[in-house]
Amino acid sequence: MALKLGLVGIGKIARDQHIPALVADPRFELVACASRNARVEGVASFASVEAMLAEMPALDAISICTPPNAHFEAALAALRAGKHVMLEKPPAATTRQIALLQAEAARHGRTLFQTWHSRFGAGVDAARDWLRGRTLTGGTITWKEDVYEWHPGQQWIWDAGGLGVFDPGINALSVLTEVLAEEAFVHKAVLEFPENQQAPIAAHLDLRTEAGVTVKAEFDFRQKGEQIWDVELVTTTGRLRLSQGGGVLEIDGRPVAADAALAGEYPRLYARFAELCAAGQSEVDWRPFQLVADAFLIGERRTVAPHQV
Ligand code: NAP
Repeated sequence: MALKLGLVGIGKIARDQHIPALVADPRFELVACASRNARVEGVASFASVEAMLAEMPALDAISICTPPNAHFEAALAALRAGKHVMLEKPPAATTRQIALLQAEAARHGRTLFQTWHSRFGAGVDAARDWLRGRTLTGGTITWKEDVYEWHPGQQWIWDAGGLGVFDPGINALSVLTEVLAEEAFVHKAVLEFPENQQAPIAAHLDLRTEAGVTVKAEFDFRQKGEQIWDVELVTTTGRLRLSQGGGVLEIDGRPVAADAALAGEYPRLYARFAELCAAGQSEVDWRPFQLVADAFLIGERRTVAPHQV
């Protein structure tokens, strides 16, 4: 039986990725959506999660694609109504919220899948396997994209809690924490805030591993031309480069062909959600979110030119 699913927050990522992935997956039936202003043709549309839950008791699951500051209330209401929940990244507005949601899911015996879509990039599993047993000596993350292209008209990303350049940058941190054999923490951070906004347009981090190795990260929303989402890691016995946000892997400069079954981050995310629901398990890992929170905690703040959305 397909899981009856309600989609919450119909914006760019819902239309670009979630709806196509759901329509193509026989394990799910998209039956409802909840969005204050948007509708999805052919499914029941509601202005709020609460209305959707009240009117559609047969829903099995909801998937939340709103900005992070709207995740907690929606996920809490759904878990309390006995639904499985899938959450877009970043997971919530504060680190405690995600811990509370995890506990709530366990209390109700429901699945909470707190996703990191970049971990489902086609090169990520092979990168993690290659790094096991190797000794890291350094690394760089370069995550530079044009905010006007990828987040058109989105004021929420610049508001307090919107995370600014960490909204995409957290994807790099999700890949790093997935592939590294050891834990990393934020050693130093410099954040650049446009003088008219509440969230950073660029960030420069020094991450340190437990073994004392530095991985430098450069995040920038002002990139024009080539868009760069690269993680490069150097070991005593070779180097790897993950590019295109985890989609392409090179070892020592040579491309590593990915299995065709690994194509498509969002189809794989929904496949994993179906597995977790069937197994009665949750998957939650807020380490990337803690790294971002820690960058805000210890980061030096610089004021830069204003940014118009
Ligand atoms: P978006 O285009 O702004 O869509 C989000 C939708 O959520 C809005 O259209 C809005 O629809 C609804 N919403 C509910 N509460 C809101 C609030 N307080 N402020 C603003 N909108 C609210 O954003 P998006 O690009 O789809 O991103 C949504 C989430 O997906 C983010 O967490 C982002 O990190 C993640 N994501 C985005 C991308 C991408 O390429 N853009 C890629 C991967 C993941 P209504 O007005 O109808 O309620």
